[in-house]
Amino acid sequence: MEIQCKLCNSNFLKTNKVVHAISHSGLIIFECGFCPKKFTHMNTTIVRKHILNQHKNPGEPINYDNYKDNRKALKEQIEEWKERCFPTK
Ligand SMILES: [Zn+2]
Ligand SMILES: [Zn+2]
Repeated sequence: MEIQCKLCNSNFLKTNKVVHAISHSGLIIFECGFCPKKFTHMNTTIVRKHILNQHKNPGEPINYDNYKDNRKALKEQIEEWKERCFPTK
């Protein structure tokens, strides 16, 4: 099932709703644990790729989960943006 974003009129699969709303918000969802880089996209793959490309030394183990997850702290704001893009009323 597809739904339309009210802000940009693009169509999305319902399952991508939150990810898309966050892309409008500019909220900092993840922060790298090794450097000050911030991520405004709700995609842990992008964060892990960044850690692999920027912070992994050959032959040394690295903790891919060393990033800050702000999703809980931003819950209310995320809900607001969801409502802005895909109003339920
Ligand atoms: Zn949109
Ligand atoms: Zn980093």
